Parts: sequence; C-alpha cells; structure tokens
Amino acid sequence: FKEFYSKEKTIELRQHYIPICTQLFYHDNPLKIVRASGTYMYDQLGNKYLDCINNVAHVGHCHPHVTQQVHKQTGACETNNRYLHDNPIILAEKLCKTLPEDLHQVFYTNSGSEANDLAMRLAREYTGNYDVLVLDNAYHGHLTSVVELSSYKFKNEKINKPKEHVHIVSTPDVYRGKYRNDEHTDEEKLCDLYVKDLMNVVEDAEGRGRKIAIFLIESFQSCGGQIIYPQTYLKKVFKYLQSKGILCLVDEVQTGFGRSGTHFWAFQTYDGDLCPDFVTIGKSMGNGHPVAALITKKFLTENFYKNGVEYFNTFGGNPVSCRAGIAVLDVIGKENLMENAREVGEYLIMKLKEIGNTYTLVGDVRGRGLFIGVELIKNVKTREPAIDEAKQIHYKLLEHFVIMSLDGPDHNVLKIKPPVCFSKDDCDFLCEKLNLILKEISLEENK
Ligand code: PMP
Repeated sequence: FKEFYSKEKTIELRQHYIPICTQLFYHDNPLKIVRASGTYMYDQLGNKYLDCINNVAHVGHCHPHVTQQVHKQTGACETNNRYLHDNPIILAEKLCKTLPEDLHQVFYTNSGSEANDLAMRLAREYTGNYDVLVLDNAYHGHLTSVVELSSYKFKNEKINKPKEHVHIVSTPDVYRGKYRNDEHTDEEKLCDLYVKDLMNVVEDAEGRGRKIAIFLIESFQSCGGQIIYPQTYLKKVFKYLQSKGILCLVDEVQTGFGRSGTHFWAFQTYDGDLCPDFVTIGKSMGNGHPVAALITKKFLTENFYKNGVEYFNTFGGNPVSCRAGIAVLDVIGKENLMENAREVGEYLIMKLKEIGNTYTLVGDVRGRGLFIGVELIKNVKTREPAIDEAKQIHYKLLEHFVIMSLDGPDHNVLKIKPPVCFSKDDCDFLCEKLNLILKEISLEENK
C-alpha cells in the first residue's frame, strides 16, 4: 500500500477527525508506518525500525501463514457465532489443551476489555456479590466497568475517581513497591507481607459490609512497570480468596501465548498447580486481527444460563477471527516460538544486566522470556525514578530506529515485549543502541 496523504496532511486531518484523547506514540513527531514484517516496521520514507514493544504482532508482523489463512477464510465464509462452524471449536480445543482441565468453556470476544467485563458479570451472577479486588497500578481495559478498576488510568484522570466497590491492594513489586528488597531481602518474607496486605484489604472491606465477587490480576503486571511477583504470591492469595468464595481471574492479555518462554501462560510460571476461575486473553491471539476470549469453568457458565442469560456477541467467535487464532497457535508450535522467547529472552536479560552494571541510571533489569523491564533511577539508595532521562532515552532510541515504550506509574521503565520471533541479532542491535545512549547521557550528567 502506498501513502494516500503526505505525512503532514495525515497529521492535519487526524487532528480534525480523531479525538485528541486517542494519543499517538512520539506525539511531537509521530511515526507513519506503512509496512511491517517480522520484528521490523517501515515508515513512509522506507526507514526500518526495530519493534521492541508490539506484543500484538506476536508471531511477527504480517506473518505469511496468518495473513494467508485469514485471507482464505474471508473468501470462504464470514458469519456469526449462531451457526455451527469448526473454527471456534478447533481454536477452543487447542487453547484448552494448554490450560488446567477445569478451564474449558470459551467465550469469544473482540477485545480484552470485553473479556474482563464478561468475567465480572459471571462472577457477580455466581457469587451474588458486586465488589472487585485489584492490584494498584492495574490496567484491565477501557470499558466503564473495567476502567473503574484500572488505577493506572484513574490516578491521572480526574474523571475516574476510585469507586466504592473497587478495593485496591499493594502490587507485590519488590523493587519499588510498599515492601522492597533493600530492607527485607528474603523474597518469601516480602511475599508474605504482600499477602498480608491483601488479606487486610479484604478484611477491612468485609468489615464495612462490602462483599467481593472477584479478584483480577495480570500474571505479570505490564502497564504498572513490567512487574514479576514473588514466586508464591499467586498461590497464596488464590488459596485464601478461593477458600472465601472469591473468584480469581488472571489477565493474560499482555503476557500469554508463550511469551514467558517456559510456559504457555504466564501464571503457570509461578506454580504448575494454579487454577484460576477465569483466564482472559487478547492482543496476541490473532496477531493483529481483533480476537479475544474469556476461558472459564462450566459451573460458572451453567449458572449464568440458569439465571436466564443468553450471551451473543456479533463479531465474537466469527470464523475469520478464529482462523487467525488457530494460525497463530500453529505458528507458535511450528516455529518453536516459546522456546525462542526463552532463549532470546535469557540472552537479552543477560546483556541488559551487563549494561546495567555499567550505568547507575539502570536500577533494575527484570523479566521472564520476552517480557522485560528496565527500570531507570536517579539515586541507587532511594530508587528515585529517572523520569526525564527515561523520556530522553525513549526519544533517542527512536533516532536510532528502535521503537520502545515507557511505562510504570512514573513512566521510568523501559518496556520490552516484542514479537516472540525476536532474534539475538535484534537483541545485539537494541543493546548496542541503548549502550550508546546511556554513555552519552552519563557523560552529559557528569559535565
Ligand atoms: N488487560 C490488559 C492487561 C491490557 O493490557 C489491556 C490492553 N492494553 C486490556 C486488558 C484491554 O484489552 P483491549 O484493549 O483489547 O480491550
């Protein structure tokens, strides 16, 4: 596809037609991408950028098998979920094989937000309770019901004050959270402090007569700053909450489909026996084609039906979206991409740690597989976030043709979650540029 408008004209028209709140990356000089392939994207001038952040193009931008399968299915039939078709069944079978046996009921949706919203409906129907428990700095989507839970958003948006039915627990972030690994280096001890914190929030809410239906948690917290929790946190809090009848949801929208390198779903990296009540997935599922899902247990869906609910979603589970999902799973298997995420992720973390050892600006390098965060700080002792420096690095990386994003509550964490076909050469390119920029910035700071 060629450019239809010049970049300047596109910007001018976008300002007129597209609401200002739908922000662009690099808004001072946004990128106009016209083509993409594998781990690279190309602008209208033909410049080639290494994509370190697009976890939607999971198996690589415009993967030929996925695009060919979508094209073929689009030409064959595109109906809705009210007709029998093999594709939603084949996809459900493949997905459920990767999950605990009890999780075998699949609702197809068009977005992660819809999947999380639907889970809340099911949980409320089943428990008869209304309230929701979430981590601090969480993000679970843009619908009214889920943006209310997303303190990542409402902290900065005056219109979205926390609601009475939303109970927020401290994120078990041992680097920057409430309990840090500088004071209590034993991870298990830190974990227990965070578990206690959650129990206190639940007990306090219940003491005020509030009744909690569901706990939502990302398996690794992404927008909150690429956080990996202490190893036993999920097991302990699920045990506590499920014994109280509070249902547990893992949001795998950012983290699923083998990104962790060792397990298909990130929650499985903590404990092989964990069995949440809901798993929500999206983003990577169609490699760019809009498809998402809620996977849950039969007693919950039967209860929903018994209460008279009929679920219909016009586009959810259509044959084309499901074909995209099947193709993605096939590519992950055929190209061994989970193993690639493990091997390349380990290599990248090692290289980033080497860089981190050279510059005090790098406070922490953490991650699993190709889900990695580099936290930038001003002061080793206080861990004061290096907000301006992070911004500078972000822009300088772009000058070197590397697309990166910043996240975390202070926007001081370099967020790395590329397509899982990322190669060691891609890592070398990224690290060479990052090293160069950190050297430049450190020299400037020493002037
Ligand atoms: N959950 C998480 C963890 C997300 O990161 C997102 C999107 N960034 C969503 C849910 C919502 O997904 P969608 O944008 O597809 O509605």
